[in-house]
Amino acid sequence: MPHPRRQALAELRVKLRQALTGPQMLAFLPAAVLSAYWIGGEAYLLAVSLGFPVLYAAVGGFGQMSQPKVPDLPKLEVLLDQRLAEAHHRQKVFACFLVSMDDHDELLDRYGQAAMDRVLERVSDRIRAVLRHGDIVLKPDEGVVPVVMAPVRLMDLEMAIQVARRLQAAVEEPVSLESTSIYVSCSIAFSLSQQNPHRNGLKMAQNTHVALDDARANAPSAIRAWSEHMKSARLTRSHLTDQAVRALESGQIQPWFQPQISTDTGQITGFEALARWVHPEQGIIPPGDFLPTLESAGMMERLGEVMLSRALAALTGWDRAGVNVPSVGVNFAEQELRNPNLTEKVNWELDRLGLTPDRLTIEVLETVVAETPDDMVARNINELAAQGCRIDLDDFGTGHASISSIRRFAVGRIKIDRSFVMKVDRDPEQQRMVTAILSMAERLGLDTLAEGVETPAEHALLAQLGCGHVQGFGIARPMPFDQTLDWIRAHEARVKQPPLIGRKQV
Ligand code: C2E
Ligand code: CA
Ligand code: CA
Repeated sequence: MPHPRRQALAELRVKLRQALTGPQMLAFLPAAVLSAYWIGGEAYLLAVSLGFPVLYAAVGGFGQMSQPKVPDLPKLEVLLDQRLAEAHHRQKVFACFLVSMDDHDELLDRYGQAAMDRVLERVSDRIRAVLRHGDIVLKPDEGVVPVVMAPVRLMDLEMAIQVARRLQAAVEEPVSLESTSIYVSCSIAFSLSQQNPHRNGLKMAQNTHVALDDARANAPSAIRAWSEHMKSARLTRSHLTDQAVRALESGQIQPWFQPQISTDTGQITGFEALARWVHPEQGIIPPGDFLPTLESAGMMERLGEVMLSRALAALTGWDRAGVNVPSVGVNFAEQELRNPNLTEKVNWELDRLGLTPDRLTIEVLETVVAETPDDMVARNINELAAQGCRIDLDDFGTGHASISSIRRFAVGRIKIDRSFVMKVDRDPEQQRMVTAILSMAERLGLDTLAEGVETPAEHALLAQLGCGHVQGFGIARPMPFDQTLDWIRAHEARVKQPPLIGRKQV
């Protein structure tokens, strides 16, 4: 972190330099010299003539002449203003990129600010290493590294996508910090100078940020280019609250389902219900984009009711279709878990559909269990468990829950967070962590599920280590209810087939 006074001085230098080195100064110089002579004679003339170059040198004007455009460092929009003017003048074009670390907040929680600063430093160095002279990497801000390319003759959409891919490949290598490796991925947004005919740096920065929202909504590892229609796609905050509340009531916010399978038998052991906003114009909006709005509007309980009743309705749908789905997992927010009427509400929903409590898995975040001394939360979870509902401890490994709090909350299964599962087949450190969690779970008599399993190799290794269940893109992405029956049937057919390995050739 730069010292605030040093930063203020640096900013003053940039401003002075801009004022002293701009074309306006050249226009004033003869007038300044002449007035000095009139006012004070030769002595003043000498002072101004010699003083100006000294001042010019002090603010780095000569340095700027010999080494153009390496500011130390202006804001993104200021740099873009300069580059837009330069590109226009020399009939060139350039791109501005925002490289955003996926899961920045989670990594920050897990490793702390100092470690993240170092990760971002390394990431910035790697980005610099794949760029050319004149391209500028600005200071990272909240996990986002801005990159402004030097103007060139040709930079179109295709070429910018290539650059983005190159940046992504450079960033997405594990960063080793002391004894651990941190796996990072990034989503990248960019916009092109030719999309900004009015040469407005602030606008170009804003556009790139709009594209970044879109990239983040499609993270991990998404790349998005800014386009004109994105302007209208971005929802303003006050609109969003109204819209989200209405979407909840009109059924636009609905559960999608992601399967969980047993590593032992390959059979489906459940589906997790994940909220999706199916927006008529904007397509699928992920929960990360609307949950905070619902939360601040005090609507999480209402979301919980909608998700619960629709997830249980899905169970009855699977039962009617004759497929075997033992249980559905529903995420319960802390707000809901504090409701003294929660048990009655859940029972009423189960009874209404004639379902036994063991068909419902309640997912509670590890952070809630770790941080709530709240007796109401513990009471609710224990009552639901006593009635036969299953309790999953979500995002395990991120929340520092003590063993006694796991015991206090009648947890039946822990869901090992994706950050431990990533690349577990290739990284001994990840393997050690997962092994430690699995052996702890075994001693406590808890079942286990690994989240975010993306590859067959991760799946195979987790099975070998003795993890009970797996869930992740490698098995299937979350899907709307309508697609689940086809997926279940195809999966059952795959499981029934005897494995090819070791089979006799006939
Ligand atoms: P979560 O409960 O940990 O859900 C798992 C998230 O990981 C889901 O993101 C899922 O789409 C994603 N995921 C699954 N497999 C993979 C994989 O292999 N790789 C990667 N990179 N990601 C994978 P999603 O659906 O965006 O949900 C984000 C979070 O939003 C959830 O995290 C949960 O905390 C919250 N959430 C979602 N629906 C609800 C809900 O109905 N109520 C409440 N209270 N929270 C919800
Ligand atoms: Ca969950
Ligand atoms: Ca989770």
